[in-house]
Amino acid sequence: MAGAPSEPGGTAQDSTWQFIALVEITNFAILRRLIGRSRGDALVLDLEQRIVATLPAAATMVVGRATIEVSFDGATFADLEVANAGLRGAMIAPFDLDQALCAMEIAIGGVGAPLGLTEDVRLVEEAEGALEQARHDQSSVLRDLSIGTPAFDRLTLTRELPLAIANGEMFLQYQPKLHVRKQAIASAEALVRWQHPLRGLILPGDFITVAEEARQISALTLWTLDEVIRDQRTLAADGHDLTIFVNISGQLLGDKAFVDAACEKMRTANAKIGFEITETAVIRDPECAIANLQIFADQGITIAIDDYGAGLSSLAYLKQLPARELKIDKMFVLQLTSSNRDPLIVRSTIDLAHALDMEVTAEGVETQAAMALLSVMGCDMIQGYLISRPISIDAFRQFLRDDILRPVEDPRQSMFKRPATFWKSA
Ligand code: C2E
Ligand code: MG
Ligand code: MG
Repeated sequence: MAGAPSEPGGTAQDSTWQFIALVEITNFAILRRLIGRSRGDALVLDLEQRIVATLPAAATMVVGRATIEVSFDGATFADLEVANAGLRGAMIAPFDLDQALCAMEIAIGGVGAPLGLTEDVRLVEEAEGALEQARHDQSSVLRDLSIGTPAFDRLTLTRELPLAIANGEMFLQYQPKLHVRKQAIASAEALVRWQHPLRGLILPGDFITVAEEARQISALTLWTLDEVIRDQRTLAADGHDLTIFVNISGQLLGDKAFVDAACEKMRTANAKIGFEITETAVIRDPECAIANLQIFADQGITIAIDDYGAGLSSLAYLKQLPARELKIDKMFVLQLTSSNRDPLIVRSTIDLAHALDMEVTAEGVETQAAMALLSVMGCDMIQGYLISRPISIDAFRQFLRDDILRPVEDPRQSMFKRPATFWKSA
């Protein structure tokens, strides 16, 4: 896995750069409708085959039903551009999908950095950001991380944030959660994004704390709630009456004006809504937070504890929370099948949550192996790129319409199908 500018993935002595590219089939839903569900579910393997043929020295991994992660080394940033051109060229010839000749359309988001400059985890996150932008721009997005994205000037963002909501620059994406035993999508999480007119896509990691510091988080969350209530109703009208979860910043658990405004919206909404709160949010001012969470729960809002294990957990508070769901932080899930310690932590967390009468979601599930292990451990729901990346409401409606989760006899026909022995007994 090394390379030279003319041939990414070439000779080892030249590898001073590392690259990650995410390649996603953008016309996946259309193709699958054309060729049928079972053949469609294997489509990502056709893409992988063509990538391997184009970049033989690169490592590939299926990271979702329509996405391949490609990693390789090289000599300069130009290697990524060469690889991109190669992949684009490789997609020109149609695919022979059981006698039907079909064109596969792809989005490519790629990043590169000199070896040792960037942690692998950050490289993947940056590649995700690039893919997100690529989907939006409808052309490849390649980022050189050695130049360093201009650090978001927090002061400017603080000034721009209030207008951004008014100008419609904020939008939501939804990430489904699969209920393991029911083999069905049980709920979804709403994740906010900022499409900045000059800076491009900004992910919440870069502006939520800004919004909190600028006291804008209440306005942003109330806007989110309005959008989610509307989208939840749309989904219910489609026949998918799912609970949609909104992330609630810890700051808001002590904000009476927010609590009143959110409850007022919920009273008239008639929509299934959940709130995700982190354990640290509660630890800040437990008495007040617990009282307000109880108000939300009384309003019919499902409470989930987010990022469990990432903060300083306190069993004492956990027991007092009116929470129905515990979400295990993705830092324990991403390495689940390669670490010795993480499976033990996850297993005992699942047992603890069940003892407290909570359902458990594992976030950051990227591989079939992780999903299989989580199923054996009795995890109730899984969320992660394996099921779907966060997607627009229209793409989510399409995802649900596709009804890909219907159990079938041949396990290869559905990526979610597992033998009955995998599931926790009811
Ligand atoms: P979170 O609530 O824990 O959301 C899950 C994050 O993990 C999301 O990142 C999602 O894109 C990412 N993710 C999902 N599946 C996978 C996977 O399989 N692998 C990996 N590596 N990552 C995965 P995102 O969208 O960047 O959000 C980051 C955080 O920003 C969220 O973490 C949440 O704490 C916060 N956030 C997002 N939307 C809102 C919001 O509307 N309000 C508030 N207060 N916070 C929000
Ligand atoms: Mg969350
Ligand atoms: Mg989380």
